[in-house]
Amino acid sequence: MKIVSSEMKNVLPTAHLKILNAAVDLSQQMDTDLYLVGGCVRDIMLGLNESEFDIDLTGSSIDRGFATTLAEKLNGAVTSSSVFGTHKLSVPVGLDNNLEIDLARCRSETYKNPGALPDVDSGDIFQDLDRRDFSIAAMCIVLRSPKNQGWQYGQLIDPHCGYDDLINKQLRVLHKNSFIDDPTRMFRLIRYSCRLGFDIEESTRKTFESSVNWVTNISGDRVRHELEKIFEEKEVGLILYTCVKLGLLPAFFTELSCDHLKEFRDMLYSDSLDQDRVEFWLGLFAINADKTQLEYLSQTLNLSSKQNNVINDLCALNEQLKQNEESLVADNLKRSDIYKFLLGYNLTAIRICAATTSNKSIKTLLEIYLNSLINTNLYLSGEDLISLGMSKGPEIGELLNDLLYAKLDGQLESADQEIQFVKDHIFNLKDGINLD
Ligand code: ATP
Repeated sequence: MKIVSSEMKNVLPTAHLKILNAAVDLSQQMDTDLYLVGGCVRDIMLGLNESEFDIDLTGSSIDRGFATTLAEKLNGAVTSSSVFGTHKLSVPVGLDNNLEIDLARCRSETYKNPGALPDVDSGDIFQDLDRRDFSIAAMCIVLRSPKNQGWQYGQLIDPHCGYDDLINKQLRVLHKNSFIDDPTRMFRLIRYSCRLGFDIEESTRKTFESSVNWVTNISGDRVRHELEKIFEEKEVGLILYTCVKLGLLPAFFTELSCDHLKEFRDMLYSDSLDQDRVEFWLGLFAINADKTQLEYLSQTLNLSSKQNNVINDLCALNEQLKQNEESLVADNLKRSDIYKFLLGYNLTAIRICAATTSNKSIKTLLEIYLNSLINTNLYLSGEDLISLGMSKGPEIGELLNDLLYAKLDGQLESADQEIQFVKDHIFNLKDGINLD
């Protein structure tokens, strides 16, 4: 028997331990067994206390009432509930931080059709662990024992020998149909293997190889969802590289070559991508695509309009960069020329070109645009131009553009110089009547 309550104390932040205590109190009141499951158990057993923990709880009698009462006790709220008896809670921890808790009734799953969602039924904790993807994810920690077991708080339940696999740093599926039942597990396998630095156990690798073509049985939405999770990983480049190397992405994208993704093997998660992370990485799939392949990518993954905009702009920009390569690398190219050329293209598309072009001069000018030109602002506004004597109308916009181009080219450095530029312009308009 393995009791891991001291590992829990060592690894889990105090806020998490408080949440677990509240859940245990409630499980006593509501008389249900209760377990900590999922990645949190894996990370506790690995002693990974630097990661951000999700809390994933399961128990045979967990229901909406349990979820609502726990949320109330923790000053949080139930944010969603599903027909499968799963509930998501959001609870405040610290000043402006919220933690997500997943609560679920123990369940069993059966797969009638490969790649389709399973039929779900109530079950006990063993059935709940049996339905999981890898042995290291099929362990749980007892928070409250069922009456017929006499387990202790903190006891590790490990029917599939996941702890041994953790020690041996390997990922192992629970049965040979695992990837056929749910081909998304192949993406998960590679993601965890790269994240944790774990090997793929030998029979699991064989199972992977013989199941890889089943990936076409899953919907584009589910694959996109798996890709989105990959884009959140630190080793995103390595994961995509491995997905190509092991034939998973080529098996799914039958009409789009993914080979070029191998070149991005060393690319890591970047905070700077922020809201456009998914678009950036999806864009990398499209850098060599022609129009038909773009359409294919968009339909296969059911891309959003924001995502489509990026890949379409990327394709158009690549084309324009090729066509204008000579003039863009010319010595007399002004900063305002770069600005005029790139203005209007989606910024993420430009970022993708900057990250992937092999032409150093083009890379430099794209970076100048992203890091400097688009952040250049005038001191004067349209209102200021009117106060200086310009009449309302389209000329205001044109003059603001001219001002900006002059500023980009280093001709205007101060507000006074901008004012003088406008006065000179008005003077020229009025055929030489100086307003000074
Ligand atoms: P992390 O959040 O660190 O990526 P996790 O293991 O908690 O890891 P989740 O995707 O939150 O990942 O899944 C929670 C648990 O649900 C997993 O540990 C696993 O046991 C189970 N699980 C998730 N997806 C699947 C799947 N496709 N097939 C089988 N079990 C799954």
